[in-house]
Amino acid sequence: MNTIIQTNVPLREKNWFQTGGSAAYYVEPRNAQEFAHAITFMHTHKLPIFILGHGANLLVSDEGFKGLVIKPALNAMSITQSTTDSVLVTAGAGVGMPELINYCLDNQILGLEEFSGIPGTVGGSVYINLHYYEFLLEHFLVNATVIEHETGSIQTVDKEWFNFGYNQSKLQERNHYLVDATFLLKKGSEHDVAYARGRQTEIIRHRQKRYPTARTCGSFFRNFKEHEVTLTSSDKKMIYVAYYLDKIGVKGQLRVGDALVSHQHANMIVNLGNATSADIITLARTMQQRVFEQFGIIPQPECQLLGFDTYPLMAE
Ligand SMILES: Cc1cc2nc3c(=O)[nH]c(=O)nc-3n(C[C@H](O)[C@H](O)[C@H](O)COP(=O)(O)OP(=O)(O)OC[C@H]3O[C@@H](n4cnc5c(N)ncnc54)[C@H](O)[C@@H]3O)c2cc1C
Repeated sequence: MNTIIQTNVPLREKNWFQTGGSAAYYVEPRNAQEFAHAITFMHTHKLPIFILGHGANLLVSDEGFKGLVIKPALNAMSITQSTTDSVLVTAGAGVGMPELINYCLDNQILGLEEFSGIPGTVGGSVYINLHYYEFLLEHFLVNATVIEHETGSIQTVDKEWFNFGYNQSKLQERNHYLVDATFLLKKGSEHDVAYARGRQTEIIRHRQKRYPTARTCGSFFRNFKEHEVTLTSSDKKMIYVAYYLDKIGVKGQLRVGDALVSHQHANMIVNLGNATSADIITLARTMQQRVFEQFGIIPQPECQLLGFDTYPLMAE
């Protein structure tokens, strides 16, 4: 085992906002044993820990992170079981979802293409239960390997263990980290694959029209939970945070430094080039404040925050 732990590693180029400071310690384990070794290092040195994927749902503080960032370089993909109609595909936590989708299509395997155009790794995607319209990653996951925080022990768990919900998984308790995940997918004919590739192109085109695709974390705020809102539309609770953000008229208008509310989507913040994470926080706080003044509720981030000594946004 030869895990190289680096010090003072800049995180700016490792997240989609392209902001933020450095990690005091940083490691890229190449297998589950090296991952476990990194956990031991953390315990020995009494450091906080953070698991990094592609940083597509992350805002790193300008001061950086004083602990150990572990970015799993677990990039294996394999077909672990195959019948006439179905296939099990196992992918390491560090595999990019776009790469996994292409691997599947190259092998005539269908299902995950519904997530085309969404950046991030398998690890980050299981963590958030990746979602696009009615599709949730939990619909495909059957089991996974996780590593336990306290002991570094490696365990196999099934889908139920994850306690998935919208934007929710057991990984968010941060007692376990994903090593790999196995997905149950469909086998298709060449014709099915051609159709799926067409759909992939169409989904990506659709996304590019509707959302910014660079220097952003996607949706900054999560949707509300039903009990948090009183406003209804057609007898249904209005849980969509973009609805409230649209009403306050910030889209393409509100800007702090080089941080701008996207002109394409009111729930997406874009770094125009030289924004700092502090700019993004100030902008996000202003959005929260305005929604609060008009509707009495405070949006909370879907974007994960790293390295802030205290919660930098308005609390619920
Ligand atoms: C342009 C754009 C569009 C987007 N569109 C969507 C969308 O349509 N739907 C959607 O759901 N999301 C969307 N997102 C958000 C993002 O793509 C997902 O949240 C993605 O899953 C993040 O993966 P990541 O590897 O980059 O995770 P990171 O941002 O690196 O990390 C996110 C969280 O996952 C945790 N994590 C990462 N790896 C592991 C692991 N191995 N074990 C345990 N925890 C781990 C991290 O600790 C962190 O808390 C979008 C983002 C962007 C930039």
